[in-house]
Amino acid sequence: MSREKVLLTNLDIPIRYIKGVGPKKAELPEKLGIRTVFDLLTYFPRTYQDRTKIMPIAQLSPKSKETVKGLVVGHHRSRKILKVSISDGTGYLSLLFFNRPKVAKFLPKGTNLIVSGYITTFGREFQTSRFDFEIVNEGEETIHSLGLIPIYPLSGELTEGSQRQLRFIIKKALDQFREGLIDPLPFWIKEEFGLADPSFAIFSIHFPKSEQDCKRARKRLVFDEFFYFHLAFGLTRKGTEEAKKKFPYSQDGHKLISSFLSSLPFQLTNAQQRVISEISKDLTSPQPMHRLLHGEVGSGKTVCALYASLLAISNNLQVAFMAPTEILAWQHYLNIERFLCPLKIKPLLLTSSLKKKEMEKALTLIATGQAKIVVGTHSLIQEQVKFSCLGLCIVDEQHRFGVMQRANLVKQAASLSGYYPDVLAMTATPIPRSLALTLYGDLDVSCLDELPFGRKPVITKCRSEEALPKIYDFIKAEIARGHQAYIVYPLIEENEELPLKAARKMAKKLSEEVFKEERLALLHGRMKREEREEIMKEFKEEKIKILVATTVIEVGIDVPSATVMLICDAQRFGLAQLHQLRGRVGRGGAKSYCILLTSLKIKEAVQNPFLFEDEALLKAAKRIRTMTETNDGFKIAQADLEIRGPGEFFGTKQSGLPEFKLANIIYDLKSLEFARQAATSLLISDPHLNLPSHKDILETFKFYYQQRLKFKEI
Ligand code: ADP
Ligand code: MG
Repeated sequence: MSREKVLLTNLDIPIRYIKGVGPKKAELPEKLGIRTVFDLLTYFPRTYQDRTKIMPIAQLSPKSKETVKGLVVGHHRSRKILKVSISDGTGYLSLLFFNRPKVAKFLPKGTNLIVSGYITTFGREFQTSRFDFEIVNEGEETIHSLGLIPIYPLSGELTEGSQRQLRFIIKKALDQFREGLIDPLPFWIKEEFGLADPSFAIFSIHFPKSEQDCKRARKRLVFDEFFYFHLAFGLTRKGTEEAKKKFPYSQDGHKLISSFLSSLPFQLTNAQQRVISEISKDLTSPQPMHRLLHGEVGSGKTVCALYASLLAISNNLQVAFMAPTEILAWQHYLNIERFLCPLKIKPLLLTSSLKKKEMEKALTLIATGQAKIVVGTHSLIQEQVKFSCLGLCIVDEQHRFGVMQRANLVKQAASLSGYYPDVLAMTATPIPRSLALTLYGDLDVSCLDELPFGRKPVITKCRSEEALPKIYDFIKAEIARGHQAYIVYPLIEENEELPLKAARKMAKKLSEEVFKEERLALLHGRMKREEREEIMKEFKEEKIKILVATTVIEVGIDVPSATVMLICDAQRFGLAQLHQLRGRVGRGGAKSYCILLTSLKIKEAVQNPFLFEDEALLKAAKRIRTMTETNDGFKIAQADLEIRGPGEFFGTKQSGLPEFKLANIIYDLKSLEFARQAATSLLISDPHLNLPSHKDILETFKFYYQQRLKFKEI
C-alpha cells in the first residue's frame, strides 16, 4: 500500500490515532504536552543507556550495571519478595520483585528475558533488585533492553514505567510514519554537508543501532534546527534590504558634526573613526541600516551613537535612543544635552517614572516632531509613543533587551509609520563570532576593537574580609588623590536567607564609622527618580566621593575619575556582571583597581582549588580567579560559558535566543556555521523561496517561525 509522503512538520495527527495506541495509552504523552505525532517524534531522548553488550552471567562483576540474556528457570516466594531465577547456561541470576505477586504469571518458566540492572551478590549468588527487563520473542525487536536505550526527559511524577510506555508509543509512531517522510532539503545541501535522510535521522535519534548512527541522526536534526533559524534571519533581512528608506538623507550634517567633533576633549581612536564611517555610509544609503556595534566596556561606543544621532537630526529626522535602565538613560540624556546645548537642540527624556502631566507633554513633543532626540528606557516602545518622523533607533546595551525586544522597537516604529528606520544596536557582551552570528545573524556587525589611548588594564585582586581596614585606607588614599570609588553590594535589604550585607545598612555604617571625612551616598534601584538623579549628578560632579550601590550601576555608568571598584560578596555575582562592574573604573587615564571581596574560604579556593570539593564553591572561586587573571572580555565570556553552559549564559528568554530542542550553540558551532552557509547559499539562489523545488523548505520554515517571529515583510 503506498501512502502519500508527508513532511515531518505536517504530522499534526493526534497521537491517539497512532496504530496500537488509542486514547488510554495517549494519556501519558499528553501529560507531557505531547499532542501530535510531530510533537512525539521530536520529543528527543535526554540520554541513552548503553545496553549493547550482553554479558555471560558467569562473567558478571558485582556492583556494576550489566545486561544479560537468559531463560526463566524458577520462582521462589518468601513473604513479599518474589525471586525469579534466570539462566543463560553459564550461571544463574535472581531478579527480586518486591510487592508484585502477580509478576510470576507473566514470567512462566521458559520465558526468554533480557535484563539490565545493577548487579549485587548474596552469598555466591548473583542478584539484582534495580533492573529493567524485557520479554523477547524470537524475531521481535527489543526496544527496552538491548542496544542504546533512549531515556526521555520526564517530569517528576512520571515513573520508570513511563519510560517504557513512551518508548513503546514512539516506536509505534515510527513504524507507521517514518517511511513516508519527505526530505525538504535539496540534494546539494545534503551532499555538501554529509546529512542523513530525515527518516533515518528521526528513527535513529530514538533507537540508534550504534553510536555512529546516533551521531549521524543528531547531526542532521541539529543542522535542521540551525538551518531554519538562519533562514528566519535571512528572510527577515531580505525584507529590510529591499525596503527603501522613507526619508533619505539629503545632506551630510557638516555643521552639527564638525562642532560636535571639535567639542570632544579627546581624539577619536582609529576604531571609532572606522566605525563612524561605516555608520555614515549606512545612514546615507537608500536602505535602512541594521547594524550591531560591538565593543568592550569603555571602548567608546556612545560617541559613535551620538555621531549617528547628529547625522539623523541634521536631516530633520527624529532619533530614539533606548537604554536598559533609567540611570543609564538619564546619563545618556545628560551627555547629549551637553553636546547639543550650543546647537540649540534639546533632548527629551522618556521613562516610566514620568508624572502623568510630564508624560503627556513628552508624547506631544514626540508626535509633533519637536523632540528631535528622545532618550528612554523600554517605555519608548509603548503604544502611545508615536513619532512623527523617526529616522534612527539606537539600542544601547542590546544584550539587556534581547532580539525580540529590539525587533519590537523596530516593528513598532515600522508599523506606526509604515517604514523601517535605521537601527544601531550596541553591546559590550563579548561573544565568540559564531555565537554573534546566531544572536545577531540579521545584523551587520561593526567592532570597536581598540580602547582609547592610555587606558591601563584595571588591577584586580581577591581579598577576604580580614583585609577590609586596609582596603578602606586605600580608598581614602585614592580619594585624597582626587579620585572616586564605588562600593557595590548584592542586595538592598538584609535578607534572612541570604546573610548579605545590605547596601543600605552598610552605607550608614561606613559613613558614620569609616569614611567620616569623605562624602558618601547610597544609590539603588528602588529609590525615587529625582533622588537617584541628584546623587548621580553629584557623583559625576565629584562632590560625592564614594558611591555605595547595588548593581544598578552595573551597566554603562561613566565617571572617568572613579578608580576603585570594591565588590562585596563578589562570589554572589556572575562573571558577566563582575566584568561590567569592573568596567565602571579605568575609564580615565589613572591607574584603577577592582577589589573582589569574599570570605576567607573562597579566597583559599581561588588559590588552591584542589583542596575543595563543593561544586558551588569551586564555581564561585573559578569566577573570581578568572577576573583576577584577565581583563579580556572574550576570555571572560569563554570562561563564563564553560562554567555555566549556554542556557544560563544567555538567560535564553532574556536574550531572545530560540530554545533549540537538540542543538547546543556552544558545542554544535560547526553545524551552526554549516547551516548558516547553506541558508545563505539557498537564499542567494532563491531569495524568497518561491521556486517550486523549495516549497517544502518554505512550508517547514513557516511551521517553525511564522508564529515565533511574526516578522513583517514591508
Ligand atoms: P562604552 O563603550 O562602554 O559605552 P563609553 O562610550 O561610555 O564606553 O566611553 C567610555 C569613556 O571613554 C567615556 O568617558 C568617554 O568619554 C571616553 N572616551 C570615548 N572615546 C574616547 C577616546 N577616543 N579617547 C579617550 N576617551 C574616550
Ligand atoms: Mg555604554
